[in-house]
Parts: sequence; structure tokens; C-alpha cells
Amino acid sequence: IDGTAEAGIHAYLHLNEDEAYAVAAEVDAIRAAGGAEAEQLHPYAGVPIAIKDNIVTIGQPTTAASKMLEGWMSPYDATVIRTIRAAKLPILGKNNMDEFAMGSTTEYSAFGVTRNPWDLNRAPGGSGGGSAAAVAAFMAPWALGSDTGGSIREPAAFTGTVGTKPTYGSVSRYGLIAMASSFDQIGPHARTTADAAALHQLIAGHDPKDATSLRTSWDGLLDAAQNQDLRGMRIGVLDELQGPGFTDEIDRQFETVLDMLRDAGAIVSIVECPNIKYALPAYYLVVPSEASSNLARFDGLRYGNRVVPHEGATAAEVMAASREAGFGDEVKRRIILGTYALSAGYVDAYYSSAQRVRTLVQQDLNKAFEKVDVMIGPTTPTVAVPMGEQVSDPVSMYLDDVVTTPANLAGIPAISIPGGTADHGMPVGMHIQGPAKADEVVYRVAAGLE
Ligand code: GLN
Repeated sequence: IDGTAEAGIHAYLHLNEDEAYAVAAEVDAIRAAGGAEAEQLHPYAGVPIAIKDNIVTIGQPTTAASKMLEGWMSPYDATVIRTIRAAKLPILGKNNMDEFAMGSTTEYSAFGVTRNPWDLNRAPGGSGGGSAAAVAAFMAPWALGSDTGGSIREPAAFTGTVGTKPTYGSVSRYGLIAMASSFDQIGPHARTTADAAALHQLIAGHDPKDATSLRTSWDGLLDAAQNQDLRGMRIGVLDELQGPGFTDEIDRQFETVLDMLRDAGAIVSIVECPNIKYALPAYYLVVPSEASSNLARFDGLRYGNRVVPHEGATAAEVMAASREAGFGDEVKRRIILGTYALSAGYVDAYYSSAQRVRTLVQQDLNKAFEKVDVMIGPTTPTVAVPMGEQVSDPVSMYLDDVVTTPANLAGIPAISIPGGTADHGMPVGMHIQGPAKADEVVYRVAAGLE
């Protein structure tokens, strides 16, 4: 890793270079010796990878960029990490992120911001800004991220890289520090669609340790990402997710992409999802609700760093002091929002209504996918935002997620791929989503546009 570049970007919270070199040397030695052991090496053995810091790893700290977990070492590996170690991929280190994956700029990390390699005065997106920046700056060819409402795809769009949110249940969540369990998916950050598909295929598959894990086969992802034939492919454009609110240059770039699709023989049509405009508010009620419940375990007694406010403090006082010191503002905001939305007098008005909206969004999308194979649009309304602009304005930050959150509400696969450059020479992302388990089709359309 280029130390000068990393000093300016700060993509990593922890560097694991000694272990990474040891694994690479072991792979080299096995290849040099030849024979049965060399033949059994995984084809990707020796390809280095970076890991978002909310995926637990033995031998390296896992903090989710929170003071609550500063210095914590997991006693076990996430399932995806076991897969990566079995294939002998050297782990370069742990990437910076928004605290507990809450945010869209990586400015809510408790351990300093990450900067966008394209323009150090702009944010790399979030919450997986460290992973996307590492891939964009050639400090890792692959990274593993997590996507609850866009945390792989939005940073991919802002850094000119590729990022996939797999179908819910495609990749095991065992060992991912939960934000909102019915939304979270681990997925790949990469430089090309084929690279993303290859990593997705490597980590996908049934895991008895994750009760929501699917028994589907994902063996065709890489092949799909190498088939660029788009003739006859039915592509939908959601009227609600373009135009007003999106900058002119992003709209113009999107028109260019639609022309490319038509030239390649795809059939482009407008589709309607009348309830999709309610997806973002529903997301920002259900996700904080699930997060407030998941984060209850970090109380300084069961998990997390303990703060004892004074001698003889009660358990309740220790919990309050630990949570006050351990959590940052955005995490506290979401815990308060989620606890309120779930509280006895308000659960019907907020949480339950939002869950009903979630069902309506799912139904709208299912209906639209009877008419089209995938839907396409820009990943974000603007290019990467200047650093500092959204830190004090969380609502404007939440609005960045308007395109990406419906896929998590519905559990469907979605990818962001580079779609040219626009304002200030910054990269633009194009977002392709398909029906549940149609990850192959999503990769195929992405590859066709490459
Ligand atoms: N920006 C979104 C949020 O803050 C996405 C988070 C994520 O996908 N982890 O909730």
C-alpha cells in the first residue's frame, strides 16, 4: 500500500501487511513447488482484499469505526472471512466507514474521515467510503463491504468503482455487525463488473449459521458478467428516480447511457412504481428501529467499552455512561428515532405503517419486473459532495439514498457501475436493479454497458 496516498485518503483503520505478506509468500511457495497442493490452490489465491471494519476478523481489531468497540478483537471470523482465508486471499486490513454503517459520507467515523481519491476535498460516499476509496486508489483490487441502504453502491458511484448489493440471503451475514438485520447484505467492491461478480460468486452460498441464508446456486455470476449481449433485454426506467432533484449533468449522462443501451439492442421503456416515493421515509423508520434493537447489546456490560462514572455506580449508570461516551451523534440520533418509532404509543403510527409501505414498495417492484428484466437510473442525485457539507445536515444526507434504499426494502439485487463523469470531472454511477435472485441478469446488463 502506497503510504503517501493512504496518508491523504485514510481508507484504512488498520493495516495487516505482515500477515498479508505471509499469506502471499505461502501462495508463492505452493505455486513454485507445484504438484497436488499447487493444483488445489484456489484460482484467486494471492489476490489481496480489504475488509470493511464491521466484518469480524480474528487477529485484527474490528471497531465498526466506533469508540464503543475501540481496540476490540473478535474471537471468531465471519463466514465470508473464513471463505477468504480458505481461498488464501491475503487480507490487507480493515477499512474506515461511518460509525456502525450509519451515514453516506464516511464523515461519521469516530476515527477520522476518508477522502475521495478523485478530489481530496470531497467525500468518498458512505458508509463504505474506506473500501471504495481503497479500490479506487489502487490500494486494493477487491474489498468487502456491507449494504443496508446503499453503503456499497453509493461509495462506488462517488469513486468511479463497481459495487453490488446482492439478493438478500445470497451472502452470509454471520459475523457482520448488524445494523438492520432484514436489510443488511455483505457484497463486493471492485474495479470492474467481472471482478465484482467473481468476488460475489466466491463469497455467496448457503450458511447454516445465518437463518436467512438462501439455498440458491450462485455459480453463474461470473459467466453472466462476461456476456455482453443486450439484444432483446427489457430495461425499465423509473420516472420517479430521475429528473427533479438530480443535477442536469447527471441526467445528461443518464441519457447517454440509455442511448448506449438502445444501440446495443435493448428495449427501453418507462415503468411505474407509484409507492416508491415513500421508500426513503419508510427506510428511515424501519432501519433505525432495527438498529436501536441491535445496538442495545452495546451497553458496556454485555458488549462494548465500559465507562464507570463513579465508585459504586449502578448497572444503569454504567450503561448510560458507556453509551454516552461510546456512541457518536448519528448513532444516538438513530437509536432515539428507532426507540421512539417502536414505543408503545407510536408503534402503529410509525413502525407498523412503515412496514406496510415496505410491502407496497415490494409489490410495486414485483409488478414492474413482470414487464422488464431490470431497471436502470443514476445511483445518486449528485456527484460526490464536498467534505463537511452534510455533517450538520443529516436530512440532506438521508436524501442521497433515494435511489438505493428500495432494493434493500425489497431484498433485490442491485449494482452501481461507472457511468462517465459529470460536474467537476467527478464520476457518475449508474444503478441497475433486478428481481430477487436475478443477480446474473443484473451483472449481464452491467457488463453490457462496460
Ligand atoms: N446511507 C444509508 C444510511 O445511512 C446507508 C447505510 C448502509 O447501507 N449501511 O442508512
